Amino acid sequence: MSDINSLGVVGAGTMGHGIAQVAAQSGLATCLVDIDQAALDRGIAAIEKSLARFVAKGKISSQEQAAARQRLTTSTELSALADCQLVVEAVVEKLTVKGTVLGQLDKICPADSILATNTSSISITKLAASTSRPEKVIGMHFMNPVPLMKLVEVIRGLATDQATYDAVESASRRMGKVPVEVHDAPGFVSNRVLMPMINEAIFCRYEGVGTAEAIDDVMKLGMNHPMGPLALADLIGLDVCLDILRVLQDGFGDPKYRPCPLLVKMVDAGYLGRKSGRGFYNYA
Ligand code: NAD
Repeated sequence: MSDINSLGVVGAGTMGHGIAQVAAQSGLATCLVDIDQAALDRGIAAIEKSLARFVAKGKISSQEQAAARQRLTTSTELSALADCQLVVEAVVEKLTVKGTVLGQLDKICPADSILATNTSSISITKLAASTSRPEKVIGMHFMNPVPLMKLVEVIRGLATDQATYDAVESASRRMGKVPVEVHDAPGFVSNRVLMPMINEAIFCRYEGVGTAEAIDDVMKLGMNHPMGPLALADLIGLDVCLDILRVLQDGFGDPKYRPCPLLVKMVDAGYLGRKSGRGFYNYA
């Protein structure tokens, strides 16, 4: 496939709007799709705020800000992505929802388009099987917040071909990211290492070993982490953390990945972290 010039993003939540922003900033014609118009409105508002902050800090010019905004369109219909060379799905971390979206994209997008998934933990091989083009399906795992974090974990499924890998590697670099190839295993590398740490921090909170502030301070001041694990869990989304831990637990069959009961309870209560205004900290 020739160089990628058009990109679609499905899901305008925490990750999707960040991916759309960096794509538009890097010069790609970008279309952001969500089934929920309110999520699209929130996503666009967040992008505009982030671009304005980059201008205020002197990182981009106001011309670049305007050009990025102009490259960005939105829709509530997947059919708006019919001409995209690369589509990144960033919908909720559920196999059934992702499988359905990829299956629909497979019918809408040209046969040579690449379908990438921003899944944090689900098997790329399994997701690819919901399409008729598994060789063109790949994991493109951006980090949160996307405009600031350098890494993209790039994950091949069993059938992913070399041309797809090369195109995604080069698109990642164009978006200012550093692609790192890892193999298809539950949680890949990032979340296999990160989630057990976050879960253990939640167990510390659950058992009263420390306050949220104390647990986070230990990791920030003692381990030089820029952010404590509980604040990071709030940033990621507690529902996303729970979904990932369940994929690890199911995938490895090892009880060490058992989600802390406090995490389950908080998600049941709708305390999802920053996006809902309440998690281990209050964001009201
Ligand atoms: P989120 O809950 O913030 O956003 C998900 C969005 O998808 C919502 O706006 C929802 O309306 C939309 N959506 C749901 N079903 C849809 C459909 N069928 N069609 C179109 N839109 C649909 O979630 P998020 O935190 O942005 O996570 C998205 C993906 O990115 C997940 O796979 C997650 O594991 C992964 N991820 C998350 C993070 C993180 O820090 N939050 C980091 C890396 C990867």
